[in-house]
Amino acid sequence: MEENFNIRKEDISVADKEFEKRLRPLSFNDFKGQKQVIDNLIVFVTAAKQRGESLDHVLLHGPPGLGKTTLASIISNELKVNLRVTSGPVLDKPGDLAGLLTNLEEGDVLFIDEIHRLSPVVEEYLYSAMEDYQIDIMIDKGPSARSVQLTLNKFTLIGATTRSGLLTSPLRARFGIKFHLEYYDHEILTGIVKRSAGILKIQIAEDAAVEIARRSRGTPRIANNLLRRIRDFAQVKGSGKVDLEITRYGLNALNIDKFGLDEMDNRILSALIDKFNGGPVGITTIATAVGEESGTIEEVYEPFLIKEGFLKRTPRGREATEHAYKHLGKQFGHNLNGSLF
Ligand code: ADP
Repeated sequence: MEENFNIRKEDISVADKEFEKRLRPLSFNDFKGQKQVIDNLIVFVTAAKQRGESLDHVLLHGPPGLGKTTLASIISNELKVNLRVTSGPVLDKPGDLAGLLTNLEEGDVLFIDEIHRLSPVVEEYLYSAMEDYQIDIMIDKGPSARSVQLTLNKFTLIGATTRSGLLTSPLRARFGIKFHLEYYDHEILTGIVKRSAGILKIQIAEDAAVEIARRSRGTPRIANNLLRRIRDFAQVKGSGKVDLEITRYGLNALNIDKFGLDEMDNRILSALIDKFNGGPVGITTIATAVGEESGTIEEVYEPFLIKEGFLKRTPRGREATEHAYKHLGKQFGHNLNGSLF
């Protein structure tokens, strides 16, 4: 089985979190890639600072591990304000959100990860906070219970989501700034691996950094995790230095796919080829075959498979490409019985 390198937040251990914190870029200068997003953010942050206003609310959308949380912390650093972090599923009741909002100081950043998972009541409660910086809170209980309107300090909400399709339109409309984060190309990921190696004081050869980058599914979180594991191999089985040989050895020992695809990526491609003769087949059929939600496949897995040329989106459904057949060691143009289509 392929090792899944923790691309989803819920799989991240406490040790991984500590490690992520150490490697998190602290300024726009340190943040590699996503050039257009960064260039625009610098303008908006600078403009807000010059006017002495809070930054407009920001929605960051993109697959896990691409830097949404990192960007939220950079924005708060650049604005020189406090950052409060929470996530959609944690905010159970409007009261939880009210507690957070009333503690924000002027200009602070509130980061809500997985904002598509807010419950409808909490989401509705957020509307007036975002728009008018006002909330209603209930005081007292029983017959003397009444609602009081509170004015909040102006704040910036940064919402992150992997599933923008699940965001309601009223919520989406309340974000003045919206950005989509893309998968990273190999050169930029190589730069990220080298930067992380520098912070962790790991000696790494250029070709080894390139190899780790190539196998990281376009995702900095995976690149950093792989670097950490390869460091272990270099320490125990090699000379301590991360060179190409020990990198390849470690990646093979970890069953890391040549192209960095994870277990679910490969299951999707296998299902397409083995069960549906390579397609075209609808997304919901693929989802049922691999036991995943169709929205998650569409927004988390499919974009990378398309970007790397393993999958095609056609009007009749999804199709596996020749590249996908080769990758899984299957012959292109043959169905299950080995006969030509
Ligand atoms: P997300 O919130 O999108 O799931 P994170 O912001 O938590 O992703 O990023 C995961 C890890 O990847 C962090 O440790 C961070 O240091 C690293 N990372 C993400 N984007 C970049 C980048 N552009 N440059 C350097 N490191 C990055």
